[in-house]
Amino acid sequence: MPGFELFGDAERKQVNDVLESGVLMRYGFDGMRNGHWKAMELEKALAERMQVDYTQLVSSGTSALTVALASAGIGAGDEVIMPTFTFVASFESILALGAVPILVDVDDTLTLDPQAVKNAITKKTKVVMPVHMCGSMADMSALKHICDQYDLLLLEDACQAIGGTFEGKPLGSYGDLGCFSFDYVKTITCGEGGAVITNNEKYKLNADHYSDHGHDHIGKDRGAETHPFLGYNYRISELHAAVGLAQLARLDEFLAIQKKNYSILREALEAIDGVQFRRVPEGGEESYAFLNYFLPDEAIAKKVHKSLGEDGVDACFYWYDNNWHYYRRWEHLMNLRSLGKLPQAISTQIPDYSKSDFSKSDHWVGRNISCLIKLGWSEAEVNQRAQKMADVIRTVI
Ligand SMILES: *Cc1c(COP(=O)(O)O)cnc(C)c1O
Repeated sequence: MPGFELFGDAERKQVNDVLESGVLMRYGFDGMRNGHWKAMELEKALAERMQVDYTQLVSSGTSALTVALASAGIGAGDEVIMPTFTFVASFESILALGAVPILVDVDDTLTLDPQAVKNAITKKTKVVMPVHMCGSMADMSALKHICDQYDLLLLEDACQAIGGTFEGKPLGSYGDLGCFSFDYVKTITCGEGGAVITNNEKYKLNADHYSDHGHDHIGKDRGAETHPFLGYNYRISELHAAVGLAQLARLDEFLAIQKKNYSILREALEAIDGVQFRRVPEGGEESYAFLNYFLPDEAIAKKVHKSLGEDGVDACFYWYDNNWHYYRRWEHLMNLRSLGKLPQAISTQIPDYSKSDFSKSDHWVGRNISCLIKLGWSEAEVNQRAQKMADVIRTVI
């Protein structure tokens, strides 16, 4: 997955363009910038690649989620449905707005279980936020149906699955809003960065203003611009956007490498009795950023994960015990441990997650191993890895 594995001349050239003019900011300084508008260029290129009308670049994937929610008017006390298996950024972005994260189970897609989503809807629910974890997607058709039925917003977190598709549409473009991260370990990276994509002009305009202190971006004098509503600073810099431009141009090259490496690993495991692959919803194609499989039970999964590490097969994750990606280890969320007082809507409305039953999620995540697909492996390395992985699993099973 990490695009940094293949940094090269294209990234260097883009960054040098920016350094030569010295304008590191995405707005203003028109006379000094030698015509370089890297953030604006990347927004155009990303909108085109993702087949949407609008993109808003921001400083991270986490801020993309916050800005996306804010752009649609989400605020204090609104409930946002999110999965138990995701990165902590999901609830961070919700809490940042005073909104309430409502955790629900994942199924064998390792993403939101549509039935669990339905069961969690209340009068306060405003958003369903599927997270396309580890290269593959939630059942977007089922979720869209639910959102239409209950008049909810569908916001896709596609940070870990850029380049995947559902019903032929790029992930992130299927819902009302989609978010990407370009942090250092994502499929395409610019060091730190993120993006919101949408076909909704109002959301785009709101995101544009909100991510830059409420600036309306009308005219050529920043100081004279007006602020129609309160905002914040979630801007990306020109340096970051420049790296992103070079990386986005290579996305399809990266996806082809991911698919090739993934296929070799998958083929080696397909013949093993007791290995079950993660379900990809009908109509979906993965980004192949990870290979995900289930083992017969939790004990075997733990043993396989340990043996893989001991045998030097790195970059395989057992998320069930992970501090950052699974609800079991989110004690800071369960105990609402924040530096200052949280908004009242959060402290009164948030469910007591220490008492929640997420055994359905445990059933799947407890048996799952996720193997990162790297871009820099040679064919010999992938073949050797496939052989070792198969040997370890056969021995443990
Ligand atoms: C990386 C990631 C984020 C956050 O992105 P940052 O750019 O690191 O803030 C959000 N959601 C998921 C699923 C991610 O993997």
